[in-house]
Amino acid sequence: MNYYIVNNTMFEENGWVYGEEKGVIKTGKAIKCLECGNYLTSLEWLPPLEITLSKGQIGDVIFGTFNHFIISDKFKDIYENNGFSGVISFEPVKIYQKNNLVNKSYFYPRINLCEIDTDIEKSEIVFSGKKQCSKCQKAGRGIKKMKGLYLIGDKKIKDNIFCIKMLPGDIIVTNKFRMATKELSNLSYTLAENYKPNWLI
Ligand SMILES: [Zn+2]
Repeated sequence: MNYYIVNNTMFEENGWVYGEEKGVIKTGKAIKCLECGNYLTSLEWLPPLEITLSKGQIGDVIFGTFNHFIISDKFKDIYENNGFSGVISFEPVKIYQKNNLVNKSYFYPRINLCEIDTDIEKSEIVFSGKKQCSKCQKAGRGIKKMKGLYLIGDKKIKDNIFCIKMLPGDIIVTNKFRMATKELSNLSYTLAENYKPNWLI
């Protein structure tokens, strides 16, 4: 099955806004690996969810200093009308531009962290160390190189949008999800097998 990864275009000067958390940031827990004890995700961002936007046009997707992305009500409607799964909750976000509250509905989706393993060999992943963990595969190591992303046993994946332990900051979707969202602005995808995180390039 083909999977696609959302391109985080925050650092591209493409005319779309990006966001930064506004005011004091409240955080919750991060998910830890039950075997090696290393963190698998960053800290959860807790309400009040408020962001300040840069100059530019407001797209259906807003990337920023927070994890993953913020999405428009149009994106949420597509998700719901198609009966997709993988988002645990959509939390309303207040967005401000030049200190004014923007009168549009935006949401922060909390996306499920899927238990699926990565095919390290096929993905040609090189880690920055020798520690190993059979549960999370990373044991706290960073990724130095990778050629693309291949998953193992993907028939077990039930969600249309999900995250994985190997690349928890990235968002993966099925082809059906990609096709349903292709009219949305500031949203593009890379085929997983061709994907390299932008911090590696
Ligand atoms: Zn582990």
